[in-house]
Amino acid sequence: MLDATTRDIKYLPGVGEQRASLLNRELKIYSLYDLLYYFPYKYVDRSRLFKVSEIDGRQPHIQLCGEIRSFEEMGEGASRRLVAHFTDGTGFVDLVWFKGIKFVKSKYKLGKRYVIFGKPTIFNSRANIAHPDIDDAETMQLSSMGLQPFYNTTERMKRSGLNSQAMAKLTSNLFSLIKGEMEETLSPYILQKYKLMPLHEALRVIHFPKNTDELRRAEYRLKFEELFYIQLGILHYSKERRHKYAGYSFTKVGDMFNRFYSENLPFELTGAQKRVVREIRRDVNRNIQMNRLVQGDVGSGKTLVALLAMLLAKDNGYQACMMAPTEILAEQHCSTLKRMLAGLPVRVELLTGSTKQKEREPLFASLLSGEIDILVSTHAVLEDNVNFARLGLVVIDEQHRFGVVQRAKMWTKSRIPPHVLVMTATPIPRTLAMTLYGDLEVSVIDELPPGRKPIATRHIFRNRITEVYSFIEKQLQAGRQAYIVYPLITESEKIDLKNLEEGYLQLCNRFCDYKIGKLHGKMKPKEKDAEMQRFSSGETRLLVSTTVIEVGVDVPNSTIMVIENAERFGLSQLHQLRGRVGRGGEQSYCFLVTGEKLSDDTRKRMEIMTGSNDGFEIAEADLKLRGPGDIEGTQQSGIAFDLKIASLSRDEQLLQYVRDIARAIVDDDPDCDKEHNRVLWRRLAEIKKRNNRHWGAIS
Ligand code: ADP
Ligand code: MG
Repeated sequence: MLDATTRDIKYLPGVGEQRASLLNRELKIYSLYDLLYYFPYKYVDRSRLFKVSEIDGRQPHIQLCGEIRSFEEMGEGASRRLVAHFTDGTGFVDLVWFKGIKFVKSKYKLGKRYVIFGKPTIFNSRANIAHPDIDDAETMQLSSMGLQPFYNTTERMKRSGLNSQAMAKLTSNLFSLIKGEMEETLSPYILQKYKLMPLHEALRVIHFPKNTDELRRAEYRLKFEELFYIQLGILHYSKERRHKYAGYSFTKVGDMFNRFYSENLPFELTGAQKRVVREIRRDVNRNIQMNRLVQGDVGSGKTLVALLAMLLAKDNGYQACMMAPTEILAEQHCSTLKRMLAGLPVRVELLTGSTKQKEREPLFASLLSGEIDILVSTHAVLEDNVNFARLGLVVIDEQHRFGVVQRAKMWTKSRIPPHVLVMTATPIPRTLAMTLYGDLEVSVIDELPPGRKPIATRHIFRNRITEVYSFIEKQLQAGRQAYIVYPLITESEKIDLKNLEEGYLQLCNRFCDYKIGKLHGKMKPKEKDAEMQRFSSGETRLLVSTTVIEVGVDVPNSTIMVIENAERFGLSQLHQLRGRVGRGGEQSYCFLVTGEKLSDDTRKRMEIMTGSNDGFEIAEADLKLRGPGDIEGTQQSGIAFDLKIASLSRDEQLLQYVRDIARAIVDDDPDCDKEHNRVLWRRLAEIKKRNNRHWGAIS
């Protein structure tokens, strides 16, 4: 059997050095295998002939057989065109060319039978097909054509003649070469039980289907396999990991938890918070290391849940570490925790990149002696010289900013891996969470504290910004505060900073009666801190900022969020930013300011934002709009998003289905030595080797 995995694409008949380098560069096709798995993005039914009388303007593509009765040149300038009056005896359709008029006229003969193919439209009650494909009817074997595959190719490829048709030809050469021989990648019993097409057949059909029925079955088989191996991998490796590592057991709910609950808790927990705390308590009491993701929309009160979990650690004699993605957020968490824990003997300390050297030594010493109960930190905690006496719990806030590597690093800070609680307000759609985290348990805080009013969101064109300013003024007069956010893609982009400075100046002129703060990533940590402090205390009433305030910042008195250049933000980011307001009891407002010329995509994003306050809904929409590859967090997650056929947004049900199948296999064959699963385990190892996936670490 030919080893299609490794054989270089340049040896395929019809390829050669030059095309090979194009295929490498443009489509990352290096081997025969890569080509085999380069699937068409659409198909066009060429098995059926339509009649002209059937055209209703709604068919995507049709094929007709008939003759051209006459040519006619019409129009002037840009609308100059050649029209061929074509008929099959049931009516007339106009074939139209705007280019290559001379060539077309000389190539096609009146009265000769042709098969034409294209997209029909109806205009002034006449059917038209612009730039149709035309073939000689005698040389066409219609019945054998089936569905015609269309492959994505790039401009550069097309210029060298490597268009969709050429790709189809190469693929067909590939099938001749391997003569349909291909190693099956699923066990026979799985094929049988789930009624799946064998691999060799599915691959042939996916490229050259005879009909749509066959095509659906091939797609199903390939999607099944793709999602199945992702799930099998995640479940298998996470199980392996759990075998290897027991977890600490937090058996008691002790003094600190109870005292905090009865004496310090300023309000009643929401039902959802209570439920999630219960879920966490169950997890940490099982002798198995906890890996739990808490998803809760912005403002749902995740910090409090984290605090209760950290008190459980304390009550059982362990330390906890809370990691935040930015210094601002770490500082804020630290002061929030200190405030909430006032009067209780729980020691909370802060460690960030800007903690002074001379403060570090005593800090590190008390971490090591166990005197510090809770360390709030940024990435700074990952450094090798930071060590704990008994680290029992790691809370990672806004996890999409942390990668797998960082999480793995925290494990090394403890003899037994600590429990991990990951918190995110960028709710990852369920399908994606399952794929990314596999066995990570998911808790959802699906309830906001009482009294919150949905944030009124409006999309405003820049030329109407003065109306927004008048509105801000009223709110300021009523004692409220406002954020004005400017995009900053990378902290070094001067032009963005210029936008911010200009905006700041403009606002200072407009709101000369109020103190205005300014915050961006270029500032020294101390300055940032002081600026944030001034805003928190209400000394500054307007805060002009970059996205450094995106996550976590909590100033309940601010009721207005203005996002400048909103078109430059993704949906999740917009939602996060908007979440900075609406945190108190007052009605809050968000203005998305854009220019007037908008792409369809931006328009859609603005619609979604003005139409929904629900982070989950927005995340789903984001997934549909952008595809999973772009969702924050997927890059760092360790899974290269290389789904070739399945889609996380469209194939959610199938994903769930194969996940259950994979789980049953992992449970039934814990040592991976059952004969009937041999194919599966071997294939899994191959995939892992090829993709170098770190399933164990992420799940
Ligand atoms: P997030 O989930 O976005 O991290 P926070 O933990 O910052 O949300 O909480 C948002 C605000 O809601 C904070 O001011 C917090 O004190 C308050 N809060 C949290 N839980 C409750 C509750 N059960 N009832 C009332 N307010 C709450
Ligand atoms: Mg938070």
